[in-house]
Amino acid sequence: MQELNHFIDGKNVPGSSGRFGDVFNPATGEVQARVPLASAAETEAAIASAAAAQPEWGAMNPQKRGRVMMEMVRLLNRDMDKLAEALSREHGKTIPDAKGDVQRGLEVIEYCIGAPQLLKGDFTDGAGPGIDMYSMRQPLGVVGIIMPFNFPAMMPLWHIGPALACGNAAVLKPSERDPSVPHMIGELFLEAGLPAGVLQVVNGDKEAVDTILDSEVIQGVSFVGSTPVAQYIYARATATGKRAQCFGGAKNHMIIMPDADMDQAADALVGAGYGAAGERCMAVSVAVPVGEETADRLIEKLVPRIEKLRVAPYTDGDDVDFGPVVTREAQQRILSLIDKGVEEGAKLVVDNRDFKLQGYEDGFFVGPHLFDHVTPGMEIYKTEIFGPVLSTVRAGSYEEALKLAMDHEYGNGTAIFTRDGDTARDFAHRVNIGMVGINVPIPVPLAYHTFGGWKKSMFGDLNQHGPDSFRFYSRTKTVTSRWPSGLKEGGEFHFKAMD
Ligand code: NAD
Repeated sequence: MQELNHFIDGKNVPGSSGRFGDVFNPATGEVQARVPLASAAETEAAIASAAAAQPEWGAMNPQKRGRVMMEMVRLLNRDMDKLAEALSREHGKTIPDAKGDVQRGLEVIEYCIGAPQLLKGDFTDGAGPGIDMYSMRQPLGVVGIIMPFNFPAMMPLWHIGPALACGNAAVLKPSERDPSVPHMIGELFLEAGLPAGVLQVVNGDKEAVDTILDSEVIQGVSFVGSTPVAQYIYARATATGKRAQCFGGAKNHMIIMPDADMDQAADALVGAGYGAAGERCMAVSVAVPVGEETADRLIEKLVPRIEKLRVAPYTDGDDVDFGPVVTREAQQRILSLIDKGVEEGAKLVVDNRDFKLQGYEDGFFVGPHLFDHVTPGMEIYKTEIFGPVLSTVRAGSYEEALKLAMDHEYGNGTAIFTRDGDTARDFAHRVNIGMVGINVPIPVPLAYHTFGGWKKSMFGDLNQHGPDSFRFYSRTKTVTSRWPSGLKEGGEFHFKAMD
């Protein structure tokens, strides 16, 4: 059995807590590796040596830090195939999806090459006689980064990149489900020229997380994962005076207006609903056709497309649409939610509850499911299922559809499909959701914009990547200076109070 390590001070370090987590091959259900779960003492030691490494890195000029990012981009491209393979083996997603995972992370590292420009301060020349005022952005010190399983390359890169570019040291606690790629990222940063200790990869569970949250050394915490944990982390991190940004779960609605191109909408829904087995925080999990006729036309287009989806391990070729979900627990949870939907009276139009893949009977596969006639009171509507399950809620009007999306407790992403610019514009302006797509089902902003939801999808106020991330990982200091420092009697300078 392969035993994984932590990545501390630039070295592979075996765990010493005696506690381990199982890392599965989701396609076969077998345990393929054991990941050490750090004790509080191991986590504290990693934080302490990150703190020792930070001052020199933070003092390095931002252009040099940007060059490390530039080299990292080259290395991520060089190792793309290797990273994607390792990612699919533990996560279960297809190779093209895994490459997308690395690619979208890499794009944020590209953005971070611009650190000198992004960290430039403001300057007011002559705020008063002989007085100048300037502000600068300085690193926080050591930050904690706690990440989910579903994008094991992209999510850590979205946070490590800006955190390091701003001059911080970072302690990354990746998901214990798929820890290999975050570890490889740590090694690549070292190869790219990052001094040892500036990025520590500590594997673990609640014990490591709580140690990060309570540490007096850690100055900022970034979290991505489910909403209950996001809320817990936000409360505990801020209680000890840390800056925190915590991104949670989602239930993304896609509204289909009667004038939409129905083929385009159906294709979009299949990709956004079932891609990566629905394990994306930007997956569309609720389709909201407006009007009975739109709903009937949509369902008619969706069913044959869903029935054609090929569910198989990533090793089965390029035409695999999606693979298994991440754990047996996730599989059982999704299947029981589907049963609950049937019990509650939703119509299961595509039913794959007996899905079994020959040769992979013990794998964590869930076939694609489509519900129609879902209502807002049902559990399958309220809960984030995080699996290949799409629910259809029929709305009588545009206003009803808008209200539905707005009343849901989550507010990560949403989309509208229409040919009417007026409706699209109204929707984008009024909806209380952080990321909006117009004829785009998964509106993930690019690296130079920011990514974040509203309502229970986000706790804190600065988003991921883009300019917000540089604001989150740095703090402003403003200096007021007066030169010459004193009054020159009878001379050319005469200082008064600034007024
Ligand atoms: P999760 O909340 O189970 O775990 C996330 C991280 O928190 C992991 O590192 C885990 O070890 C740690 N953790 C779990 N329980 C903890 C506890 N009780 N105390 C302290 N730490 C704990 O989430 P997940 O299953 O890994 O990821 C899926 C979730 O992430 C979904 O809800 C998805 O929507 C969300 N997500 C959100 C975004 C976003 O940007 N909003 C992006 C990706 C994923």
